[in-house]
Amino acid sequence: IKLDAGWTFDNRYARLPERFFSRVLPTPVRAPELAVLNRPLAAELGLNEEALRSDAEVAVLAGNRIPDGAEPLAQAYAGHQFGYFTMLGDGRAVLIGEHVTPSGKRVDIQLKGSGRTPYSRGGDGRAALGPMLREYIVSEAMHALGIPTTRSLAVVTTGETIRRETELPGAILTRVASSHLRVGTFQYAAQWGTKEELRALADYALERHFPRFEEAENRYLFLLEQVIARQAALIAQWQLVGFVHGVMNTDNMTISGETIDYGPCAFMDTYDLKTVFSSIDTEGRYAYGNQPYIGGWNLARLAESLLPLLDEDEEKAVALAQEALDQYPTLYHRHWLDGMRAKLGLAEAQAGDGELIADLLRLMEEYRADYTNTFRALTLGEYIGMALFDASEFREWHERWQTRLSQEAVSREEAYERMRRHNPAVIPRNHRVEEALAAAVNCGDYSVMERFLEALADPYAYSPEQAEYAELPPPSDRPYRTFCGT
Ligand code: AMP
Ligand code: MG
Ligand code: MG
Repeated sequence: IKLDAGWTFDNRYARLPERFFSRVLPTPVRAPELAVLNRPLAAELGLNEEALRSDAEVAVLAGNRIPDGAEPLAQAYAGHQFGYFTMLGDGRAVLIGEHVTPSGKRVDIQLKGSGRTPYSRGGDGRAALGPMLREYIVSEAMHALGIPTTRSLAVVTTGETIRRETELPGAILTRVASSHLRVGTFQYAAQWGTKEELRALADYALERHFPRFEEAENRYLFLLEQVIARQAALIAQWQLVGFVHGVMNTDNMTISGETIDYGPCAFMDTYDLKTVFSSIDTEGRYAYGNQPYIGGWNLARLAESLLPLLDEDEEKAVALAQEALDQYPTLYHRHWLDGMRAKLGLAEAQAGDGELIADLLRLMEEYRADYTNTFRALTLGEYIGMALFDASEFREWHERWQTRLSQEAVSREEAYERMRRHNPAVIPRNHRVEEALAAAVNCGDYSVMERFLEALADPYAYSPEQAEYAELPPPSDRPYRTFCGT
């Protein structure tokens, strides 16, 4: 008997004007094999795990077979890459369709690494196993941290090698997103589309992500405001966990408010606003401390793209856009400050909180403290293994913090509970990610990765099994580096 995987496609993006996509089939691969399957996500999507493991369904995840109801296409978009505007589009990905889950949620099912498309320009349209597993690990870790993100349903190996600096095993990632609409999709529409096409895209985005637009007086202003609000919240969450995205080009900023594009991202260890991991970000444009500002810059590009829809009168449109954009720093800062308070166990707001937080961060920077482990130590009350904890200034700060905590209405226990919910005990540390990838890619041993994924699946558990993942790598004189296009 053939098991039904449960795909339920209803493709609305494919109904947009043709300018927004090219119909293209994934390029078949030689010998697909399932490397990882995300069981909880499959269940959430109403997909049958057992069926997904069958040859017929692995063929779907590899792009070798198109399931009923799918309408494969590559999406067109543009974007500012490191500040320079350019035409892009899915160059190595195919949207196979919009799947509607049993609870009525609509998600994009995209195959990444599925071959060349009309938007490919130079590349081969393929992806290597290491980076696809890396995206799987980090995106699932982000989800478990409670941060909006695209998800990873599966990785299949292709049985083919791809040419990079050396020959690497090829793979395809099944990415699940609440949509793949990007700031760059709107830039594309504004640059090359008609006003009606831009409107069609905006209406699609509203219906998909902001169904309450019916109540808004100006629905396109509402769209802009909602994206600003979601991105302010998202980037604040990145800052709070020390996530460095690495390539915040406008094509890598979603309309849904989900984190997307896990190429060169990494978690910061030592607290430093200048932290950069990406080998190509030589100017530090996307450094940790710059992310909130780049978020504002990208949103301004979205606002510009929407201008024709905001008002018939251009001056009025600009004023509306500016007013919306002016909200961003305030929204961002409120999320960040509330989040920092929570990391320190504070539920109430007091005037001196900003200073208390700033003083801790300054000490962390001065003593080159590990970001995650500082908050983990405060949560556990275990002050070992860092120079910061031996400093008299830290002890003074600690006194101030304890005094501040005693002014809270809730008990000390509740305050520490709050801290545990906001300070992860485990993050995907770079050396552990590399260790998991090396075992999988070089030895076909997925057990290291599976065990790591288990620890990452509940980052606030503070379980004994997680303790080893809090350990820092042995000191190295070479900084950790990440790469984009592999
Ligand atoms: P990214 O830097 O990941 O946002 O990618 C920018 C653009 O380059 C996107 O349009 C990708 O689809 C495209 N791209 C990246 N790698 C490849 C590749 N190997 N083959 C074709 N296109 C690629
Ligand atoms: Mg991208
Ligand atoms: Mg990328």
